[in-house]
Amino acid sequence: MPSAKIYYDSDADPSLLDNKQVVFLGFGNQGAAQAQNLRDFGIPNERILIANRQDAYAEDAKSKGFIVEHDFVKAAAVADVLFLLIPDQVQPRVFNEQFSPSMKEGATIVIASGYNVFFKLLQFKPQQDVVMVAPRMIGSSVRSLFQKGKGFPCFVSVEQDGSGSGLGTALALSRAIGATKAGAIASSAREETAMDLLAEQALWPNIIMLFREAFSVLKEAGCSDEALCYEMWMSKEPAEIFERAAEDGFIGQLKHHSTVSQFGQLSGALSLDGIAARTHFKDILNNQILNGKFCRDLSKIEADLELDGLQNPLNELYRRAEQTELSQAEKRVRERLADLLSSTTT
Ligand code: NDP
Repeated sequence: MPSAKIYYDSDADPSLLDNKQVVFLGFGNQGAAQAQNLRDFGIPNERILIANRQDAYAEDAKSKGFIVEHDFVKAAAVADVLFLLIPDQVQPRVFNEQFSPSMKEGATIVIASGYNVFFKLLQFKPQQDVVMVAPRMIGSSVRSLFQKGKGFPCFVSVEQDGSGSGLGTALALSRAIGATKAGAIASSAREETAMDLLAEQALWPNIIMLFREAFSVLKEAGCSDEALCYEMWMSKEPAEIFERAAEDGFIGQLKHHSTVSQFGQLSGALSLDGIAARTHFKDILNNQILNGKFCRDLSKIEADLELDGLQNPLNELYRRAEQTELSQAEKRVRERLADLLSSTTT
């Protein structure tokens, strides 16, 4: 595979946004951050419209001086550029029913996650541009890095090029929200979805399972709940390790550990062949993610995710996860050591 192209500020022409009406559907994590960045970049406030139901998010947008429209059909009709920044699972319902029918034929739709486009859950008109500008950061960091004059990692792609000039608009928008300052990586909805979902459905589940099993084995060997919780995660050592990995290299960060630790980690990792994990990852990628199985299963329960109590399938999963030995022990430790914990979080 060739190296990915990386786009910088100099590749983007912000004048392509002149006189465009930009609508943000959603003023949550990403919506609030990106709308403020866009305005601070120089897009006039009257050219930015926040579409949001009448509630706390709308109030937040108003308190920050934005113009807010509660009628989605009206907001859709004026959008030259629509940032689709509501949760992925509700996007098909809200966009297809309330936005798509009244949107302009030449509008640009901006997604921050490839999921709904890769799985073809959104209905676009053929003349429209559909571009992905997907920050690899939570919204508060998208905002704070912009305020510090720094960029943030971001993926960019053109998923439908109705105008023939979708890339120019995508790069102009990326620059305006601060994404090309440090370099935005050319990607695709497929690549972003495959990486995101594999991490969520295979990599992190395995990490959760490994912590759970290591906890049980060490507990059986006589270690206390308190010592285990601190040793394994409450000290924040794993967070520091990943921070160092980003700065000094995935393997290079090991040099910050003791020689005993370095020897144990490297010899242990190299002695595991990973074949079972690789087979498992391929199975999840091909037979659960890329073939659309997970997406179909999630679509069936999407409405239930807004229910209260254990009728909500996510709450039921939390209930089961909280019954594990690790979770029960952590609950007891947190109750006993509330003071110590608050001192490590400040
Ligand atoms: P949020 O959960 O923060 O979205 C909240 C916003 O969505 C609010 O404005 C809320 O308004 C609105 N919303 C929620 N439900 C509905 C609904 N049923 N109808 C209409 N509006 C609704 O989303 P994020 O910012 O986290 O995610 C937005 C997009 O950005 C997603 O595609 C996500 O994958 C992507 N992304 C997110 C990142 C993150 O760090 N969170 C990182 C990178 C990409 P109200 O409830 O008032 O209607």
